Amino acid sequence: METRLLPTDPASAMRSSLAEAVATLERGDVVVLPTETVYGLAGDITSPKAIARIFEAKERPSVDPLIVHIPRKEALYDVAVVDDAMDKLLRKLMETFWPGPLTFILPKHPSVSDAITAGLPTVAVRMTSDPIFKRVLHDLGRPLAAPSANRFGRISPTSASAALEELNGRIPLVIDGGACATGLESSILKIELTEGKPLFHILRHGPVTAEDLKPFGKIAKKRKPSPHTKEKEDAAPAWEAPGQTDSHYAPITPLRLLSDPSEFQPEEGKRYALLSYRGLEDDGYMELTEFVETFVLSPGSGKVPEAAVRLFFLMRQADQLGVDEIIAEPVPEHSIGSAIMDRLRRASIPATDQ
Ligand code: AMP
Ligand code: MG
Repeated sequence: METRLLPTDPASAMRSSLAEAVATLERGDVVVLPTETVYGLAGDITSPKAIARIFEAKERPSVDPLIVHIPRKEALYDVAVVDDAMDKLLRKLMETFWPGPLTFILPKHPSVSDAITAGLPTVAVRMTSDPIFKRVLHDLGRPLAAPSANRFGRISPTSASAALEELNGRIPLVIDGGACATGLESSILKIELTEGKPLFHILRHGPVTAEDLKPFGKIAKKRKPSPHTKEKEDAAPAWEAPGQTDSHYAPITPLRLLSDPSEFQPEEGKRYALLSYRGLEDDGYMELTEFVETFVLSPGSGKVPEAAVRLFFLMRQADQLGVDEIIAEPVPEHSIGSAIMDRLRRASIPATDQ
């Protein structure tokens, strides 16, 4: 199958590209669209054919559920069952974080197919702020299921060319909306209503951080494994975080996450690339070996948000060098830094070591 890449600039190109995207979705086919987090592979939630195509193109196991994207807040009630107590809290959260990179896990509406939720009684719902995705949702008039537009277990694409690299020949259409604004997948939140404050289980760390959510409830104890020991006790049970396998977001080249420069003993004859947070010699990493290339996550000192935007893009570049190992420095573990460290930890676990 030929995969076409359609532009959204200038405005006339945008109109015809989006019309084509909507027509493709109406036929029950799939389209890659930008979101503010990463590029998504979208299909109409009412089309079993489209949902099957999403799983097929991504080689995604059927036990890994999809996120449903809705065009407006009220559409939440078409895909999820929300009682009064939950509604009160959700309205506050939607007011603050939607449209934006926050996904809620809620009891599913009977109309949502089991293929989308992988048979779970819950559904993942979000409303993106991306103007292109929003227009397609609006013009189609139905929610879209859209997981990240990468083959299973690989790095999420943050540009149209990265999406094409992942899915070329497997899907009909990629809409180019430029680089993604935040660069990491949405935060996934499961809410437990208790006697006191609501309890927030962050199933996936992302751009909406624990600090952002704290004013609205209590953050449940989170999983924080060290880069080398895998602490399983605090991990959310498999049914709560399906698809959140330990190894994920992984380049093909082995990636090693350091916590201190002293941990790194370069081996004779091996070639290394460095993912550096600040890119400074006094960080201690730069002089350890002749790195084939050093990729700086925050060259503009935009700090962790800038590092988040660049992380997957640079991981892809490092992966293409053909080095023996990618060495990654840790980033400060606050705000979106927690999500970056989560991705680096998962990228550093070999796929066979789960
Ligand atoms: P992606 O859209 O590729 O970022 O993947 C979506 C992720 O959302 C999945 O891997 C799941 O971890 C998560 N997810 C989707 N539906 C549910 C659900 N009902 N319960 C918990 N997690 C979910
Ligand atoms: Mg994904």
